[in-house]
Parts: sequence; C-alpha cells; structure tokens
Amino acid sequence: MKALDDTVNLLSRLPGIGKKTASRMAFYILRSQHDFAEALADSIRQLKTLVHFCPECGAYTESDPCPICVSPLRDRSTICVVEQPQDVLTIEASQEFHGLYHVLGGLIAPLDGIGPDALTLDLLQKRVQVLKVKELIIATNPTVEGDTTALYIKKLFVEYPLTVSRLATGIPFGGDLEYADRITLAHSFRGRMVL
Ligand SMILES: [Zn+2]
Repeated sequence: MKALDDTVNLLSRLPGIGKKTASRMAFYILRSQHDFAEALADSIRQLKTLVHFCPECGAYTESDPCPICVSPLRDRSTICVVEQPQDVLTIEASQEFHGLYHVLGGLIAPLDGIGPDALTLDLLQKRVQVLKVKELIIATNPTVEGDTTALYIKKLFVEYPLTVSRLATGIPFGGDLEYADRITLAHSFRGRMVL
C-alpha cells in the first residue's frame, strides 16, 4: 500500500523514530478519527509556514522581531549566546535569565571545516554596539567545539567594555544544554564564570 508505505518512510526519518515506531504511528493515524489526521497535517504545515528565525536574535518566532527582542521587560544590556534556536526555549523554561539572546547558528569546528565566518558573529558585534551590551553569557554546550567558540568570542570582544562569562557548573563536559533540567540550568546561570 503506497500511502501507508509513504507515511511510514517519512515518519521514520524523524529523529529517534525507527521503522517499527513509524509503523505504529501510521497505524494509529489510520485508526484515529479523520479530524486528528487533518489537525496533524495542518499543524505541521503551519509550523513550516509561520515559524521562522527572528531577524535580530535568530530564535524561532512567529512575529518580527520575536517577543523577547521587543519586550520592555527584558534587560537589554545582557545577551545570552547560544548555538541553536531551540536552546532559547530550553533557557526560557528555566526562568533564570531575563536578558536577550543571540543564536550563533552553529559552533566553530575546524575538523568539520566550520570557521567563525559560518556563525552570526558580525550580527552579534553590531547588536553589542547598538544595545551597549555590558555582559555576554556564552551558553554553548561544554564540548570542545563549545569551548573553542566561547574562547573565540572572548577574544573577539576583548577591546569592548563588557564582561564575557560562561555557564559554569552542572552541565557535564560533553553534555548537552537541551537535556539539562531547569534547576541545573538555573545553577549554571548563577554560577557562571568570567572568561
Ligand atoms: Zn529575537
């Protein structure tokens, strides 16, 4: 059955979903009410149509700029620098940080041929000047690439009148921000170290 095979093949391309799970999902959709399948298809379509990157910070947003960038309640003198847009959601969930964000769009990885030019560092420099930023908190993952990127940013802003700090304790080396729980993340913010 082509329609069933197509659905299974597409679902099995999702991260963490093997052929077996994909089949179970497809059969579930087949068994469920027509409304559910329609709503699922619509929500995926809406996700791709409405959600895009904030032109200022690079986070996922449905409005331009994103609600964080335009909020009068956020501390505009502090920017938390993260690797990918979903990191913003992880840190927001911890409710520990009240400044702005900057999404790098990757990490410096010489072995993979990814240099600083591939990241949004030009935009970060502009934002730091315009917003008169006093602190950059680097929240890249504690990996070799995450550390390399943090040190590069520290050097980039060495002449600027600001502090560059790095999330400290809690997240083990080689760990991933995405899987850190809220309390661990809150401790990481409070215990951040000046680079
Ligand atoms: Zn934004």
